Amino acid sequence: MLELSESDTYRDLRDAVRSFVRKEVFPAATEMDRNDHFPTELFRKMGKLGYLGITIPEEYGGSGMDYRAQAIVEEELGYASASLGLSYGAHSNLCLDNLFRNGTEFMRREYVPKLASGEWIGSLALTEPGSGSDALAMKTTAKVAGKDYVVTGSKTLITNAPYADLFLAYARTGDAYTPFVILSTDKGFSRGAKFDKMGMRGSPTGEVFFDSIMLPEDRVVGKAGSGKDIIMSGLNSERVILSFIFIGLARRAIDLSVRYSMQRKQSGKYLYEFEMIQEKLAVMYTRYEAGRLLAMKALSKLEKDRMDAMSAATAIYYVAESAEQIAREAIQIHGGYGYVKDFEVERLLRDAILGQIGAGTTEIRKKLISSGLIKNYMSQDRMPD
Ligand SMILES: Cc1cc2nc3c(=O)[nH]c(=O)nc-3n(C[C@H](O)[C@H](O)[C@H](O)COP(=O)(O)OP(=O)(O)OC[C@H]3O[C@@H](n4cnc5c(N)ncnc54)[C@H](O)[C@@H]3O)c2cc1C
Repeated sequence: MLELSESDTYRDLRDAVRSFVRKEVFPAATEMDRNDHFPTELFRKMGKLGYLGITIPEEYGGSGMDYRAQAIVEEELGYASASLGLSYGAHSNLCLDNLFRNGTEFMRREYVPKLASGEWIGSLALTEPGSGSDALAMKTTAKVAGKDYVVTGSKTLITNAPYADLFLAYARTGDAYTPFVILSTDKGFSRGAKFDKMGMRGSPTGEVFFDSIMLPEDRVVGKAGSGKDIIMSGLNSERVILSFIFIGLARRAIDLSVRYSMQRKQSGKYLYEFEMIQEKLAVMYTRYEAGRLLAMKALSKLEKDRMDAMSAATAIYYVAESAEQIAREAIQIHGGYGYVKDFEVERLLRDAILGQIGAGTTEIRKKLISSGLIKNYMSQDRMPD
């Protein structure tokens, strides 16, 4: 499929990730889905290859690249295994990049290299049983006790939680919010069961419990009470980067559909010769290209302003909804075989559905887009003509 032109550095990275994906991820993808298996060693290997710490400077154990590079890794993983892409995004963007940007020098030296190398697995823990879309309604609290904090509460639906060593977890501190580093070895930490999901199988999702965990001051990420901005900027970055999983998934669905339509004959004709199949392919491709352009625009905005909620929400809203429609049409083009597990397209649809739920739902994205739109007009003090 045609792609936007890229500089040599990004093209080399894409080529390297592609060859890793062909050799290592494609062969693992079916087993990950069927047995809900998280390939820990493969994940750690991405650390050795420099993909986990791709946005982290070299002196802290990373590859010294940027969000564009992280998006390339996401897209190529998403092409072969969206679930590996999801675990990668949770570790590399939601947890590690966020920790590096907002954490103290101590955290950069102590935790960042372990996460970048893959020695440790990371999670971001925001969602709670009673607070999902309304994340700021969280009940987990951190109470000051001398020089320490006592953290009590629980988090749910957390990617990588069943295996993670380090959690960037948010808690209420009075009227404000504070992010903390919580380690799986902390006294009072425990895990719940892994969820059995319809899609994104192989990306482990679970609950964690914090039973009066005593944390020293040096576990506060950034400044106490600074959590709201960190939550919001982190969500924007997460939305843009995770969009690329679904761009990769949509590209895979289109490739498989084109191939099948060129191989399968009915009534003496190849499927691609039927106008109704042509219409499907045209709509799938146009939606994919439009989503990619929106995501690229959001990516370049993210590099300049991590608080730009509107472009991040616009990109992921469109990309995720399109990926689901593209995956659905891919099944239709494959006819009865599309419904059979041996053909990859049914997994693509199950995985694509998460795109409209994780990183804030479609409904919340639409809310952000429309409120951003109104705010733009108001700030210019003008009514549309
Ligand atoms: C596979 C998977 C991985 C995840 N990984 C993580 C992770 O790593 N870390 C993390 O913190 N969380 C994670 N989540 C949680 C995810 O962010 C939440 O599921 C999501 O934000 C929605 O919250 P909820 O499930 O509580 O749904 P709810 O907020 O209860 O929403 C239910 C429905 O109501 C709608 N709704 C809610 N409020 C409004 C409103 N104001 N206006 C209109 N409609 C509304 C929603 O759009 C949705 O359709 C993950 C979830 C899944 C499924």
